Amino acid sequence: MALEAAHTKRGDRAKRRRQPGHSDSGRGSEKEYIEAGADILVTNTLQASSISLKRYNHSEDAYEITYKAAKILKDIPEVKYIGGCIGPTTGEFKEWAMDPTKAYTEDEFYAAYKEQVRAFKDAGVDLVICKTFFILPELRAALRASKDYDMITAVSLAFNYFEKTDDFATIYGAKIDDLISLNDADIIGFNCGSVTPDQAVELTVRFRKKTDKPLFVEPNGGLPGNQDQVYTPDVFATYFEKIIEAGGTLVGGCCGTTPGHIRALKKIVDLQNLGTIYRPKKWRL
Ligand SMILES: [Zn+2]
Repeated sequence: MALEAAHTKRGDRAKRRRQPGHSDSGRGSEKEYIEAGADILVTNTLQASSISLKRYNHSEDAYEITYKAAKILKDIPEVKYIGGCIGPTTGEFKEWAMDPTKAYTEDEFYAAYKEQVRAFKDAGVDLVICKTFFILPELRAALRASKDYDMITAVSLAFNYFEKTDDFATIYGAKIDDLISLNDADIIGFNCGSVTPDQAVELTVRFRKKTDKPLFVEPNGGLPGNQDQVYTPDVFATYFEKIIEAGGTLVGGCCGTTPGHIRALKKIVDLQNLGTIYRPKKWRL
């Protein structure tokens, strides 16, 4: 299954909006991802929890923002599946990725995420995707909130590769085994971070040695902030031949990926007939 890019660098978003066919509502970009062949479109709600919205003084609007974001996708008939996106609460802080456990308890994370999941449920999304997480307490809270509403749930960490130890971990040290310990998750995997598409192949192999669960694989189209290392759609898609062969199930692109990346990726997915490998029973066909 191919996923659209759920969040991109601000610059990419602005650039795309300037292109013909892009309306201010963002509706234009959603159509582009549908036309590119994305099976799942993801809501633009990564930073829409009440905690993340604090820095904009909009905490009390978390439900409404999340609900409306899901409804935008729900109202487009061509959308096959909608992934309700939940992200880390680090967005509240000026320093991205400051450890939020120093400011909040796991129960506070849970309460904030529960509000978003309730909005997803009310709007009728097909699954909840908890992505770009760095620390376990937040991710655990998001998963618990999602399962309270009986939602199909994907959990995903933002890994970096550490050459010294030849290991993949988040900037706070969470690893593959930590994700696997989240037994209630229906889908596990990784997105964003500094894992390049070629490293994503290796990371997929390492996941597959430890789990049979459907695997979510969504690397960036380049390294954030590094213009010298940007993957063109065709090169990006080439790595997915190996990722899918190694057992990647729900595949897509994170920061810096465009409809062109998804189009190229979709060709690989179709070639390998991936669509038939994983589809939860309760999803409509
Ligand atoms: Zn990203």
